[in-house]
Amino acid sequence: MNLARFPRRNYLQGRSAIELMPRFTAALGGATIYIKRDDILGFAGGGNKLRKLEFVVADALAQGADTLVTGGAVQSNHCRLTLAAAKKEGLQCRLILEERVPGSYKPEASGNNFLFGLLGVEKTRVVKGGTNMLEEMQKEADELAAIGRKGYVIPVGASNPLGALGYVACAEELLSQSFEMQTSFDHVVAASGSSGTHTGLVVGLYGNNSNIPVTGINVSRPKEAQEELVYGMVQKTAALAGVKSEIPRSAVTCFADYVGPGYSLPTPGMIEAVKLLARTEGILLDPVYTGKAMAGLIDLVRKGYFKKGEKVLFIHTGGSQALFAYLDTFRD
Ligand SMILES: *Cc1c(COP(=O)(O)O)cnc(C)c1O
Repeated sequence: MNLARFPRRNYLQGRSAIELMPRFTAALGGATIYIKRDDILGFAGGGNKLRKLEFVVADALAQGADTLVTGGAVQSNHCRLTLAAAKKEGLQCRLILEERVPGSYKPEASGNNFLFGLLGVEKTRVVKGGTNMLEEMQKEADELAAIGRKGYVIPVGASNPLGALGYVACAEELLSQSFEMQTSFDHVVAASGSSGTHTGLVVGLYGNNSNIPVTGINVSRPKEAQEELVYGMVQKTAALAGVKSEIPRSAVTCFADYVGPGYSLPTPGMIEAVKLLARTEGILLDPVYTGKAMAGLIDLVRKGYFKKGEKVLFIHTGGSQALFAYLDTFRD
C-alpha cells in the first residue's frame, strides 16, 4: 500500500504512544494488555476521528468547500472533532444531531455538547432517532449552495473508504512501533461503531500480511449486522488502498455481548471498565465506546479467549469528554 498518494492534512503530532498496562494487566490476571493512545491525538481533546479527518478534510479543501456538514449522536465525538478541524482550516461547520435515545438532547448538557458551542458551531439541528442522516446533511449542503456557499458532507463517523484510510495508516504505524519495541502483538481490539476504525485496522493489518487478528466490540448493532457493515466497508477500502489479495469475510470478527440496552446507554461492565482503568493506570475511557469495548476486553480475558502470555493491544479511540455528560452514572 502507498498511502502517500492520497492528499492528507496533518492533524497528529507524530505517532500515538503504545503503553504497557502493568497494573491493569495484574488486576485482570490474564493476557498482557497494551494501549495505543489515540485518545491524545492532535487537538480539541483528540480521538480516532482525527485520523479519518486528515484524509476527508483534505478532499473537502480540494473541492473548494467553505463549510463542513456532518452529523452524529447528541454527544458525538466525531462532531466535536470535525468542528475543530473546520476551525483549524478556517471553515464553518454545521451539525445534524440525531437523538437516538428519545429525550436525550439537552441544550445545556456538558461534555461534547458544551464543546460544540465553545468551538463555534455555525448551526446545529436536532433530528429524531432513525432519521436518514445523509439526507438531512445533504439538505444543509443544498441550503448553503442556494446562498452561494459550498458545503461538504462528511458521513457520520467519517466512515467512508477515504476516512477508513486513517486507520489503515494507524495499522501501519502500530506495526512499525511493534517492530521497534520488539514486541509482537497477538490481538488488536477496538470499539466497532460506524465502522471506519475497525475497517481500517483490518485492511491495514491484513493488507500487510501481519497475521494479527482484529477483534471489534460492538457499541450498537447485533453481531451479524455489524460484521456485514464492516466487511462491506473493508472491501471498498481495500480497493481504494490498493490491496491486491481478497480479504476473507473471516477477517471481520465482532462481539455484540457488551452493548447492553443500546447505543450510549450505560452497562455495569462499562462502569467497571472505566473505573478499573482509571484506578489502576490513571487513564480515562468514555461511557459510549471505549468503556464498552474495554468491558468486552476484560470479559474476554477473564473467559480465557485472550490467553495468559498473549499480548493484546487495545486501541483507545478517545471520547473521555463525554464522561462529563454522565456524572450520575459514575458516582460511587
Ligand atoms: C466514533 C468513535 C468510535 C467508533 O469508531 P468508528 O470508526 O465509528 O467505528 C470509538 N471510540 C470513540 C471514542 C469514538 O468517538
